[in-house]
Amino acid sequence: MSTYTRLPVRFERGEGIWLWDTEGRQYLDALSGIAVCALGHAHPGVAQALAEQARRLVHTSNLYGIDLQEQLADRLCKISGMERVFFCNSGAEANEAAIKIARLYGHGRDITCPAIIVMENSFHGRTMATLTATGNRKVQAGFEPLVRGFIRVPFNDLEAIRTIATTKSDAVAVLVEPIQGEGGINVPDENYLAGIRSICDEQGWLMMLDEIQTGIGRTGNWFAFQHESLLPDVVTVAKALGNGVPIGACLARGSAAECLQPGSHGTTFGGNPLSARAALAVLDAIESDDLVANARAIGQQLLEGFRNSLSDTAGVTDIRGSGLMIGIELDRPCGELVRRALERGLLINVTADRVVRLLPPLVTTDHQAEIIIEKVSDLVSEFLAE
Ligand SMILES: *Cc1c(COP(=O)(O)O)cnc(C)c1O
Repeated sequence: MSTYTRLPVRFERGEGIWLWDTEGRQYLDALSGIAVCALGHAHPGVAQALAEQARRLVHTSNLYGIDLQEQLADRLCKISGMERVFFCNSGAEANEAAIKIARLYGHGRDITCPAIIVMENSFHGRTMATLTATGNRKVQAGFEPLVRGFIRVPFNDLEAIRTIATTKSDAVAVLVEPIQGEGGINVPDENYLAGIRSICDEQGWLMMLDEIQTGIGRTGNWFAFQHESLLPDVVTVAKALGNGVPIGACLARGSAAECLQPGSHGTTFGGNPLSARAALAVLDAIESDDLVANARAIGQQLLEGFRNSLSDTAGVTDIRGSGLMIGIELDRPCGELVRRALERGLLINVTADRVVRLLPPLVTTDHQAEIIIEKVSDLVSEFLAE
């Protein structure tokens, strides 16, 4: 069905940061399939793990023990500080699990209509509950009636959350992206997450972070919340976890980790041996090649490079980001830059109408970063000079 307006290109093959189309033209992929292919394309370690596992065992269902799923859960808990994991197949499903956990948590405290505080400009997915949580009318329009039980506040506004805490509400949780991705690479103030943590502690609310875009090394830490010293109660991940193999996960600790019980939630495919093996290979590669540190260093290089080349350009209103999640905001809509970049052999994205979004793979080298800086800077300055 025509859910996407697709660009006029088809890719046939990839290697690292590079893609080749059906005519043999080469492209630098500074978007990574929207933060998915963090190890680049056709990663040998992931390819080998998939091929081996496909020959051994792909699926048995969650009616039986799955060693690889348990190993992956242990690894994710170790890097995140969480205690238990529910596996699924996408980001939206990971957030659905978080929403269901919050509701069970609320009912456990005798709140019959538990509500989750969510943000303006947020993005949490396309299922009914996650599109309701999403703070973008375009995502919701036409799908009414929406799901009940969400309270919306502006992003990066602790006072707005405190106000809900002081008025009588049925709030039981806060669901927030540490950096808004689809909303325009919106980086909150430094104390924002810590502020949410302390309000949640005071109120007995669950702090739930959607790290589907920010997680698994993208911002220069395994998780974006690790830039501050705090632990959320629930963390959702997906995108980069399988480097393109569909897998999502909802991680939790404390009482949030005990809400789901046999019979209360489930999935046919989630955490099967094939996707778990792929995700283990992804974590192995990120660790052995020190890619989290690389994301931090290359991210810094890109930010500085763009600030040098573009901060004095009229029409560029902001250059921001964290690690390899970078936004260049213009004073005008710039969606057509995507097509122009494509014509020059570069894959980028524009989100929130006027923000050029770059999500290059964690394997980006400093030489490739220089190419990105030059190509994107030229593109943006030529566009703004017209
Ligand atoms: C992509 C994304 C989702 C949705 O993930 P799907 O796999 O497309 O369902 C949810 N939250 C955030 C922050 C995302 O970036």
